[in-house]
Amino acid sequence: MSRNYNIAIVPGDGIGKEIVPAGYSVLEAIAKIQKFSIRSETFDWGAGYFLKNGMFLPKDGLDILKKFDAVYFGSVGLPEVDDTLPAKDYTFKVRTNFEQYVNYRPVRTYPGVTRPLRSEKPIDFVIIRENVEGEFVQMGGQYLPDSDAGMGIDTSVFTRKGIERVAHYAFKLAQKRRKKLTHITKSNTLINSLTYWDRIIKEVSLHYPDVTHDQMYIDNCTANFVLRPEVFDVVLTTNLFGDILSDLGGAIMGSLGLGGSGNINPEKDFPSMFEPIHGSAPDIAGKNIANPYGQIWSAALMLEHLGETVAAEKIMTAIDKSTQQGVLTRDLGGNAGTLEVAAAVIKNL
Ligand code: ATP
Ligand code: MG
Repeated sequence: MSRNYNIAIVPGDGIGKEIVPAGYSVLEAIAKIQKFSIRSETFDWGAGYFLKNGMFLPKDGLDILKKFDAVYFGSVGLPEVDDTLPAKDYTFKVRTNFEQYVNYRPVRTYPGVTRPLRSEKPIDFVIIRENVEGEFVQMGGQYLPDSDAGMGIDTSVFTRKGIERVAHYAFKLAQKRRKKLTHITKSNTLINSLTYWDRIIKEVSLHYPDVTHDQMYIDNCTANFVLRPEVFDVVLTTNLFGDILSDLGGAIMGSLGLGGSGNINPEKDFPSMFEPIHGSAPDIAGKNIANPYGQIWSAALMLEHLGETVAAEKIMTAIDKSTQQGVLTRDLGGNAGTLEVAAAVIKNL
């Protein structure tokens, strides 16, 4: 198998321009150690690109990306660019067109990082968020918005195909982990879409008798993330709930800046895309203070996806050593800069 990887780099906006190069320097370092090669090309797409060109990526942007093995992405968004129409947006386009229907968002304990929870018990679970349908299909409209009868409607669409494929992915993942899957729902009030979701997940669960499967309502789930996060192994959830739960997952780790993620096309018909869970954080951009750990973790997830498992593990060990040594950014109560964190991780490889 060829161990030459073609990586498209899309730093995006804000802190993406700082943490993506930091993360890429770790990738280059591990490639040397593990003796594989990376060829990369960088694209300046995002909200900044939109201000100049009227779109987030060029018309042939997806065709260009398609030729790569994976996309290493930062984040898009600038305060002066309206992001209420995500269908136009870079992230939405890539996720849907490349059928990245799995959003893989792990949550774990970082050694040496203070977290806001009372419990000291280790946390180690993965949120699997359905990434292309559900509440985010953008079907609906505003009707007579200026009149007294005005209304705004968004329709959620959950398809059998869409639920089955993400559920199979999540159950297979649980088989490789602690064999427990909790699916998050709100079928006591969303009586059409989420009862269908529950039903199909139960059907899929029959193929995985070795995985313990239970369900939890989203409201109860948020409480449990805070009170008993150690009970979770694989958390399977919808697009909207997954969006919200991932920020909570980042917060219970100690900072949003700690979360890495993958937008995965399991069939590998298209490249998958790896990015931190947070946004472009324009409020702290350009100061070398952004936390790059989530971005570096995303590089490890990308290598795992490409089959470089040992390299991925080495990055995770080096991250752990660095936080343990107290190399912490401002959001974690330290004073290390973005570049200093990357240098520490590289040294610990
Ligand atoms: P999006 O809509 O793209 O998710 P957002 O509006 O939710 O973006 P973020 O950009 O994620 O917002 O930022 C939320 C807060 O978290 C900001 O105060 C930001 O500074 C902080 N933050 C986010 N990422 C980091 C990071 N890597 N390091 C330090 N602070 C961060
Ligand atoms: Mg956000």
